[in-house]
Amino acid sequence: MPQYIYQCGTCPGHFEINHGMMEEETHCPQCESETFHRVPQMPFLKSSITPKGGKVGSETKSAIEANKAVLKDMKKNLANEWEPDK
Ligand SMILES: [Zn+2]
Repeated sequence: MPQYIYQCGTCPGHFEINHGMMEEETHCPQCESETFHRVPQMPFLKSSITPKGGKVGSETKSAIEANKAVLKDMKKNLANEWEPDK
């Protein structure tokens, strides 16, 4: 569910809105002002940060697993190549 952060233009309050059923919030829940603007969020930061116990990480997780497998193979190959004690 997309979540947006709004900054009130009248009071110092800001609030988060889940845009599920409603299209737009019409007033600040703290001061009832209708003057507020959406705070732009940074999708880059969002995607680069791995949330603790988050649900965003499944893609990253599989990528990490894939990397691990590759590393394992590389190590195996290196060990086979070098065989230092023979
Ligand atoms: Zn307000």
